[in-house]
Amino acid sequence: MPRPRAVVTGGAGFLGSHLCERLIREGYSVLCLDDLSTGSPRNVEHLAEIGPFRFVRADVTDFVHVVGDVDVVLHFASPASPIDYLRMPIETLKVGSIGTLHTLGLAKEKKARYLLASTSEAYGDPQVHPQPESYWGHVNPVGPRGVYDEAKRFAEAMTMAYRRSQAVDTAIVRIFNTHGPRMRPDDGRAVPTFIRQALAGEPLTVAGDGRQTRSIQYVDDLVEGCVRLLHSPLAGPVNIGNPHEVSIEDLARGILDLVGVPGTLRFVPRPEDDPTVRRPDITLARRELGWEPAVGLGEGLRRTIEWLRAGPERSVAPRAI
Ligand code: NAD
Ligand code: UDP
Repeated sequence: MPRPRAVVTGGAGFLGSHLCERLIREGYSVLCLDDLSTGSPRNVEHLAEIGPFRFVRADVTDFVHVVGDVDVVLHFASPASPIDYLRMPIETLKVGSIGTLHTLGLAKEKKARYLLASTSEAYGDPQVHPQPESYWGHVNPVGPRGVYDEAKRFAEAMTMAYRRSQAVDTAIVRIFNTHGPRMRPDDGRAVPTFIRQALAGEPLTVAGDGRQTRSIQYVDDLVEGCVRLLHSPLAGPVNIGNPHEVSIEDLARGILDLVGVPGTLRFVPRPEDDPTVRRPDITLARRELGWEPAVGLGEGLRRTIEWLRAGPERSVAPRAI
C-alpha cells in the first residue's frame, strides 16, 4: 500500500517541524512548504534521514500547486510571535486569509482532510474564563495585535465555509501558548526570552506588573493533540492547551529557579492589548479525543532550558538554502 501523503505549510517553523517529524514517524510522506520568513531549514534538515521528506521553499500566499495525491493538509504557516507579526502585519493578514484560501483549495482538489492551526488569540482579551470553544472572544480588530487575531478568525470562518459549501473535510485546532526545542531564543515570546536572559545572567523583562496569566504547554503535548484531531472526524474548533495557569511573574521566577541562577526581574511596559488572562477549557479534547497534557510545566521548561543551553548553533535565525 502506498504511504499516505501530508502537506505541512510552515513546516520549517517551530511547531511545523515537530509535526513533520511526527507524521514521518507515523508512516506519512511529508511535503513541507515554507517561505522561511520566520522558520529555518535547520529545523528540518534531519528529517530526510528519518523517512520520506521534501522541503520546498514557497510562499503559500502565491498559488499553491502540488503534483500527485495528498491525504492531509496541515496549514501552520503564519508568523506566531508578537514581535514577528507586528513586524510583518500585512504578511500575517495575507497568510491567514489568502494562504488559508489556497490551502483549502488544495485540500478540496485532493479530497484531503484539512487541519487549520488557529490560536487562543481568537479569544482576544477574554471576558469568559477559562475559555471554552463556544466563547466568541473579545478582540480589538484595530489594535496592533488585530492583524494576527483577525487573520486567524477569518481563517476559521473560511475553513467553515469550505466545510459547509464545498464539503471539504476540515478541522480547526485552537492552540494555546506552546514552548519547546526549535523556538528561536530571540523570538520575543516569554518562555524563550526569559530562558535566554537567565542563561545570559541578564534581568528578566516582565511586562506590566507580571500578574497577567498564560497557560503554557510543552510541544509534545500539542503535537499529540493535533494528530489525534487530524485522525478524528471532528470539525472543531478544539482547544489544545495545558490548563495549568501561571502568572508571568511566577513564570519568570520559576525559570530562574530551574536555570539555577539568582537573577533579577526588570518590569517593562506592557504591550497594547496584551490579554490579561488565558486558560483553556479542555473538556472537549478530553471527551472527544481522549487527550490531555502529559508534560507538567516544570518538566517541560526543564527540557526547553536544556535545549537552549545547548547553544545558539542549534537555534539560529532563518538563513537561505
Ligand atoms: P513559527 O514562526 O516558528 O513557524 C511558522 C512558519 O510559517 C515559519 O517556518 C515561517 O517561515 C512559515 N511561514 C510564514 N508565512 C508563510 C507563508 N506566507 N508561506 C509559507 N510559509 C510561511 O511559529 P510557530 O510557533 O511554529 O507557529 C506555527 C503555527 O501555529 C502558526 O500558524 C501559529 O499561528 C500557530 N500557533 C502557535 C502557537 C505557539 O505557541 N507556538 C500558539 C497558537 C497558534
Ligand atoms: N512577556 C513578558 N516579557 C517578555 C515577553 C513577554 O513579560 O520578554 C509577557 C507578554 O507581555 C505576555 C506574556 O508574557 O503578557 C506572554 O507573552 P508571549 O509573547 O509569550 O505570548 P502571547 O502574548 O502571544 O500569549
